[in-house]
Amino acid sequence: MSSGSHLGEARAEHPDAVVLHGLGVSPGSAYGPIVQAAAPVEPPADEPAAEDPAAASETAIASFMHVADTLDAKALSAETTARDILKATAMIARDRSLHREVTKRLNAGSGPTRAIAEAIEEFAARFEALGGYFAERVTDLRDVGARAIAEVLGEPAPGLPTLIEPSIVAADDLAPAETATLDRSLVLGIVTRHGGLTSHTAILAAQMGIPAVVQVHDATTIPAGTPVSIDGGSGEVVVRPDPAAVEAARERRERLAAALAEVTGPGETADGHRVALLANIGGVEDAELAGAEDVEGVGLFRTEFVFLSAVAAPTVEEQTEIYRKVFAPFSGRRVVVRTLDAGADKPLAFADLGPEENPALGRRGLRLSQARPDVLDAQLQALGAASAETGADVRVMAPMVSTAAEARWFAEQVRAAGLATAGVMIEVPAAALRARQVLEAVDFGSLGTNDLAQYTMAADRMEGELSELLDPWQPAVLDVIAAAAAGASQAGRPLGVCGESAGDPLLALVLVGLGVTSLSMAPSKVGAVRLALRTHSQADCRALADAALEAESPEAAREAVRAAVAPALADLL
Ligand code: PEP
Ligand code: MG
Repeated sequence: MSSGSHLGEARAEHPDAVVLHGLGVSPGSAYGPIVQAAAPVEPPADEPAAEDPAAASETAIASFMHVADTLDAKALSAETTARDILKATAMIARDRSLHREVTKRLNAGSGPTRAIAEAIEEFAARFEALGGYFAERVTDLRDVGARAIAEVLGEPAPGLPTLIEPSIVAADDLAPAETATLDRSLVLGIVTRHGGLTSHTAILAAQMGIPAVVQVHDATTIPAGTPVSIDGGSGEVVVRPDPAAVEAARERRERLAAALAEVTGPGETADGHRVALLANIGGVEDAELAGAEDVEGVGLFRTEFVFLSAVAAPTVEEQTEIYRKVFAPFSGRRVVVRTLDAGADKPLAFADLGPEENPALGRRGLRLSQARPDVLDAQLQALGAASAETGADVRVMAPMVSTAAEARWFAEQVRAAGLATAGVMIEVPAAALRARQVLEAVDFGSLGTNDLAQYTMAADRMEGELSELLDPWQPAVLDVIAAAAAGASQAGRPLGVCGESAGDPLLALVLVGLGVTSLSMAPSKVGAVRLALRTHSQADCRALADAALEAESPEAAREAVRAAVAPALADLL
């Protein structure tokens, strides 16, 4: 993942080639013609005030409802994460306060589509002010507005034209609802101008196995039909690449596929040091897909993803049913369940403590569970019931733990619910620095490097513009990880990683060198990490970790490690 200069630079070896740099968020390389997503339909510039505001209000609301119905219909045939996102977007379209804002604007003299645009922008400003998850939903909100405006005008919904050949999709930003419904057989890759590593679009693209690069400044100016190659790992986008380079990339893809097919089974270093390779999942369908993969279990089940669109608290029975289905494909394997990480960027309607000045630093994760023990109790009860009925090795961990006292409190709740194994996420620098004491209170820890980077660097993870600071290769982030690993070792507790960094094969080697005992990631990333481990001994990993820790910048750390790994691996990644 590299970010940086966005201005194209001409490639010396090919006069027409232009190299753009972005942030690689879903690995893999692709080559094909660009298809530009259509810009959203704007309200006509000269639109007069609605003649009959009451009738216009009815039309606008009917359009929002039509948009919601269309999204819900798409949700029926989508996979878990996509389905939740589509349903959540449909909920925005059904929001009565949004409809009321449109009616207010119509009554104040705005034209039928201008009123929709104004209401959407009013809500967008409120969402942006809230920051975090809400700011992230602004893309969804604008997508809903653009669809409603197109509907009122009788024009086709904005977004992608129908693809007629395998293509690389370019867009300002793709709404999650659009990403979720992309046809995998025709979308070779995604390039966007906005978005970040942990944006919905990035997470979806990785889950769908579509290479993606975000933060490419010139993404929308590449003419349609232009051949482009993209590398979803390094973030490099080459416009009109040298045919020889394309051929070399294709050969490299084939070599990588062949190398990946050679190594299967548990994660271990060349000298047999075991490092479990696990999947990150967000629901039942993810579990079914991941369960069929060559993984040793689940290292992070983000339970809050299941309930993002739930209005009322799910009952113990409803939750038990879901957890049973998640555990079933993993009989005989481990499943690490994270209790609801609600609040901040992932608010849940049924566990909301009200507005906060700074939600990312507010009552989120375990802090919210402590304020709402009823919600935690119901979840632990359901997890206990479901795990008793399946053969999965269920372990439960808490998000956003800061102190040893919090860890102790959580372990007591878990054990009281009849669950044997309790752990904590280490994603707050305070917990990382006191990892020995925090982990002595529980059975295991899991580094959440997404939040750990956010809190160490004081950089909002949803802010794509700050991706350089959020880079997990940042020396300070590596130092904090090293401190946590040292504490875990003193406490004699296993410490995994379940943040996005675990899926970067080079960084995975560093993490293992620092003492990390398991790695959990999107299933599409497991193969390359397994290959990296098998080609290095534990001592190699330690030497790579030392090299990374000595570097003065993320780029230098990455380069130092790349230069020191086995040449056969460097050639493939
Ligand atoms: C993390 O913070 O690294 C993590 C794995 O949790 P999430 O991305 O869900 O916050
Ligand atoms: Mg986190």
